[in-house]
Amino acid sequence: MNENPICTVADLIRQADAVLVGAGSGLSSAAGYNHYHNDQNFQTHFGDFEDAYGIRNLFQGFYYLYSKPEQQWGFYARYIDFMEKAPAGQPYLDLRDALAEKDYFILTTNCDVQLPKVFPEERLFQFQGDFRYFQCSQPCHDKLYDNHEMISSMLDAMEKLEVPSEHSPRCPLCGWKMVPWVQDNTFLQGSEWQAGYQRYETFVQKYHERKLLLLELGVGDMTPSVIKLPFWDMTSKFPDTFLVTVNQAKSGAPEHLHGKSLTVCDDLSHFMQALRREQNETNGKNNDSEV
Ligand SMILES: [Zn+2]
Repeated sequence: MNENPICTVADLIRQADAVLVGAGSGLSSAAGYNHYHNDQNFQTHFGDFEDAYGIRNLFQGFYYLYSKPEQQWGFYARYIDFMEKAPAGQPYLDLRDALAEKDYFILTTNCDVQLPKVFPEERLFQFQGDFRYFQCSQPCHDKLYDNHEMISSMLDAMEKLEVPSEHSPRCPLCGWKMVPWVQDNTFLQGSEWQAGYQRYETFVQKYHERKLLLLELGVGDMTPSVIKLPFWDMTSKFPDTFLVTVNQAKSGAPEHLHGKSLTVCDDLSHFMQALRREQNETNGKNNDSEV
């Protein structure tokens, strides 16, 4: 195997029949959208919320116990609008280019709308939902509601960081409040979610006995059961599957996956950029030799 991990990963992608990506929050952090830390983006777009409530990052803002729903919707509306308008980050664009020649699928715990900006829905399974949709908070029925118009009218009506109660969304069937369609104790795993799961299952079934590369990008330890553990399981069980894990924090695959896995400790924005450069150089060489 090549000494340089970037060359190795480029080779592995080239040789694979298909690539299954597991994308975690580290990929969005590398794209400049860190939902867990106080950074420049947070200061610029949410500094007034920090002043008002003392929340230090987007994650805290989402789970903060506001004293009234008008305040909570004030934050939700700003947050959802921010994610919807944020341009796709470079690591996501690099990932798209890196996989351009391959059959691939992306399983993700991210719900920050970065992936759907770059990849077609049929190649995605957003395990923990997507902030662009609302659901009934019970939920009393199996339907997702595109919230673009609702968010715009909430922002228009917002005063002193609060959305007046007549603008807070209500379920059209039962009248209960609606909530963003993201992982929570009332999260709707209905027909949309099931369809995503089915796409993922179908992809794995198609390639489980072929040369399948698993590419785990920026997956932390918060929800190991979604990506990390199933990826270890597949690597161990499938005959020709190899696992690449890229993360800024040091992590390793379990002992029994040695020989079938590679761990790269790198900043993902740097890694994706270097991978693209390596792929381009190799393509250039191949083209030269064909002339
Ligand atoms: Zn309802």
